Amino acid sequence: MCLALTDAEIDALYSQVSQLREQGLMDEADEQARLLLQASESSGRALYQGKAAFALARNHMERNQYPQAKTQLNLAIQFFQDSGEQKWLADSYRQLGLTYRYQVDYPQALSYVYLAMQIYQQLEDMTAIGSAYNSIGLIMEKMGQYEEALQAHQKALEIDYQLDDSGGIATGIYNLGDLYRVMGDHEKALQYFNDALQMDINRNNPKDMAYSHNKVGYVLSELGQHQLAREHISKAIALFQQIQAPRDTDWARSSMAQVDINTGHYTEARELLLELLVRAEKNQYLSLKVDLLGMLADVTLLQEDYSAALEYIEQGIELARLNNELRDQVLFEEQRVEAYIQLHSVQQAFESLQRKQQLDEQLLNEKRVTGIAAAQAQTEFIKNEYKIALLEKERALQQAQLETQQQQRNMLVTGLLIGFVMLFLIYRGYQRKRINSKLSVLVERRTAQLRLKNKELRDAYKKVEALSLTDRLTGLNNRFFLEQHVLSDLELSRRAYTDWHQGRRAAPQNADMIVFMIDLDRFKQINDNHGHHGGDLVLIQFKQRLQKVFRESDYLIRWGGEEFVCVARQVNRQDAGDVARRLIECVRETPFEIEQRQIRVTCSVGFSCYPLVPASQSGPESWKRLLELADLCLYAAKNSGRDCYVGIESASTPLADGFPINADLIKDRISQNEIKVISSLAKNTDITWC
Ligand code: GH3
Ligand code: MG
Ligand code: MG
Repeated sequence: MCLALTDAEIDALYSQVSQLREQGLMDEADEQARLLLQASESSGRALYQGKAAFALARNHMERNQYPQAKTQLNLAIQFFQDSGEQKWLADSYRQLGLTYRYQVDYPQALSYVYLAMQIYQQLEDMTAIGSAYNSIGLIMEKMGQYEEALQAHQKALEIDYQLDDSGGIATGIYNLGDLYRVMGDHEKALQYFNDALQMDINRNNPKDMAYSHNKVGYVLSELGQHQLAREHISKAIALFQQIQAPRDTDWARSSMAQVDINTGHYTEARELLLELLVRAEKNQYLSLKVDLLGMLADVTLLQEDYSAALEYIEQGIELARLNNELRDQVLFEEQRVEAYIQLHSVQQAFESLQRKQQLDEQLLNEKRVTGIAAAQAQTEFIKNEYKIALLEKERALQQAQLETQQQQRNMLVTGLLIGFVMLFLIYRGYQRKRINSKLSVLVERRTAQLRLKNKELRDAYKKVEALSLTDRLTGLNNRFFLEQHVLSDLELSRRAYTDWHQGRRAAPQNADMIVFMIDLDRFKQINDNHGHHGGDLVLIQFKQRLQKVFRESDYLIRWGGEEFVCVARQVNRQDAGDVARRLIECVRETPFEIEQRQIRVTCSVGFSCYPLVPASQSGPESWKRLLELADLCLYAAKNSGRDCYVGIESASTPLADGFPINADLIKDRISQNEIKVISSLAKNTDITWC
């Protein structure tokens, strides 16, 4: 199709595309850009074709479609080279640099921005130089080179002050604020964002105001001022809506979700994030989507909905990998470790930890490589700057030579030239030295970082191991497992009794919990006679005896050494003696086997029941107290000749929590008939409590 427009009309069309894009009306912006393309092709002029490609590229960038943006920018560059439009050429280089930045190829990003910078300097276009410094700052920040980023932003700011460009100054201050935010200095970040906001308000620029409001809100919430944060973010949302920028609106909404998370409103946060995720998916807002998935993983972890968290993490990692964002991958992997630890999947937690370690290494490597590339790009740039200066001087001197034709002057010129060349050489030597020392610092830093990472990994492994919930020898659960599960069972039991006491239900059946503490008798002798390995075999077989006597739903715990704790849940305490008896018989009556030899083993059992005082509503005894009582009974069983059980079935008055329980106290209560004891001994008076 042929669309013949005048130059002025084409220019107007170009501005229209930019405006539509800034308002977030992307479909319309694309449509106008296509018209612009047709018009520019009809005009046959490289300049307009370049502008059309440039506009299309900017639209692609707005939609995060970086490969397409790159194609268009390369086209634009060719057209602008043909038409000799230096400013447009430089702008295209800068945008290409920014595209590489979004794609995490920082060395390329920097080299293109420096290319643009060179042209801007030749053109002495200070505004453009300022914005190139801004871009350099943003790239350096992404590379984690905060000091350099700070310098670049400050340079941009200086230029904007010189030009009295209030928009540029506000952007510079905003960027510095963001840098402080990234570095974790929220107070300073807040100052800068507030300053930027004031300037945006003075300039009455709604888009920038919205950006600043959003950041002020975000940082305020990080500083604990959530109400004020919400007000700022609401303003940002309203402003983004006003200028019809849907992606930024959702971005600001995600800040609101962050405030919800920070204030513990997890359900609201999750709902909002899911709504945003659907839209991000539909509109292909890829980086927003990664952020949203990260926040969803956060909130579901906080809600202890670990399986949902793992799903978001999986999606997030996939996308971060596609976006080539190592840093995001590391963050997701960290969340995954957390989820697996909470799920007690030690193996998987450890594998995630290892993947995170690998990613960290990759990141460090990348930082090193990009660090070197940044140093090289800077040096290259400075070198070129000097070359240009030298050439200019040379030209000036040649002219002077022609004018005066004086030998003396000629010599002076040569001298000067030599001086310059020497200066240049000295400078280059200095630069090289600086790079070398920078490199060795980098290598040193990296080694130190690696050492730290290894230590972190070792510590983390220890932590994971400590969190392991099974005992290696027997495969039974350990006491960490019990601590995590038993409280909810106690609560269930307590509630059943409270409901009964308060007349809400009949006397509870199968609502008791019994804690058995079991210790093998004279186990040291088994070790002495059959070796440690023999002892281990007995422990493994002992586990099988436990499994025979107890139900599958009971907790079987290796408490330590040759001591076991078994918790029977939702049972009647009247059955406790029977269970203990069966266990003792099951151990005593069938010999254990150690390498074809049969040995006799016995065990002693102590137990206590929960709730201790079933008949009346008294404060519930703690888990700790329950264990103390079972332990005391076990001790009594040992003192009373071993191969027997002693248990406390119930009490008529509570044993106050908080003071120590001892055998004398129990004996005293028994004599007053306040505690009911059962045992396998002929008479309870045969029990030796201490
Ligand atoms: P008592 O009847 O009074 O309980 O006597 P005991 O010999 O069983 O009691 P004691 O607590 O003095 O000794 C327990 C022994 O168990 C000491 C320790 O070496 C051994 N032991 C602890 N853990 C293990 C293990 O994992 N494997 C083996 N083989 N032995 C263990
Ligand atoms: Mg023992
Ligand atoms: Mg023992």
